[in-house]
Amino acid sequence: MKSRIVAKALALTGTRGLVASLTRPDGVLILNYHRIGDGGDSPFDRELWSASAEAFDEQVAFLASHCDVISPADIPAALASRRGRHVAITFDDGYRDNYEIAYPILRRHGVPGTFFVATGFIDKPRIPWWDEIAHLVRASPLRRLDAAGWLDEPLDLGPGGDRTPAIRTLLKAYKRLPSAESARFLAHIRGASGVDDDPAFDRYWMDWDMLREMRDHGMTIGGHTVSHPVLSRLSADEQCDELTTCAMRLREELHTPMDFFAYPVGARDAFDANTRACLADLGVRYAFSYYGGFATRDSDRYDMPRVAIETHVDTDLFRAMVQLPHVFCRRPYT
Ligand SMILES: [Zn+2]
Repeated sequence: MKSRIVAKALALTGTRGLVASLTRPDGVLILNYHRIGDGGDSPFDRELWSASAEAFDEQVAFLASHCDVISPADIPAALASRRGRHVAITFDDGYRDNYEIAYPILRRHGVPGTFFVATGFIDKPRIPWWDEIAHLVRASPLRRLDAAGWLDEPLDLGPGGDRTPAIRTLLKAYKRLPSAESARFLAHIRGASGVDDDPAFDRYWMDWDMLREMRDHGMTIGGHTVSHPVLSRLSADEQCDELTTCAMRLREELHTPMDFFAYPVGARDAFDANTRACLADLGVRYAFSYYGGFATRDSDRYDMPRVAIETHVDTDLFRAMVQLPHVFCRRPYT
């Protein structure tokens, strides 16, 4: 909230451009999006919508005219350079709106984007755990969800409608669990929710043809595991299996090595030394996290910082983040 007020003040006083021109940061600002469009009525996880098509178009137009928008392959050169204002645009997961809405906007503005896909969803479309939890909570006829053994007390769902706080509580609990338990937790919620229909989720993920077309037009396709687990909750072997199979599918379908990878969930504790060892074995050049920050020459190549773009990021805040990333996109220290 404070950032928004400062960003607005910089915009109203017309000083943002001046301050930006005096303080040109060395580094790369890596933006991260998930879905583009209007998720207001979605039965799924509405927090995955990063921007409307109009807002994304406006953001990309601003980037195209004020920055050097780069691909991950350009990061070493950008970090070595003392000139320019470098920004990379990345997307996680592989939702179809990335192809249908974001990709045409990127092309129209002539800038590259990077798409990290969970190959299991591309190969065999199915609902991912976060969207299933959101669907079950929203569709539940109950006012209260029994989660004995999983949560300290039954979860109050309220009278229906959005139910975002309850969804958030369950997603947080899910992410904390070891993988075997997270599957049992999800099965429990399925049973306890009283929902027995499967949600329709056709036209949900991109397919390989779409990804090939995007690759052929200058987009980078990177890895995001097979089934999108929180990697640090898996054994070393399970982690390596997720990463190796993801790399293999990218190579088979796109004929590209998995040079770039984004950690599912992306929090500081969502990956560990086993993840890093496997990434190194596979020859991955950069792996991207997702808890804020601005990439500099000192950044760890397997913990490259990205900042979230979400619907609360308005025009002024977006421009302040882009022009003054060392102020507005600092990495949290906690
Ligand atoms: Zn993801």
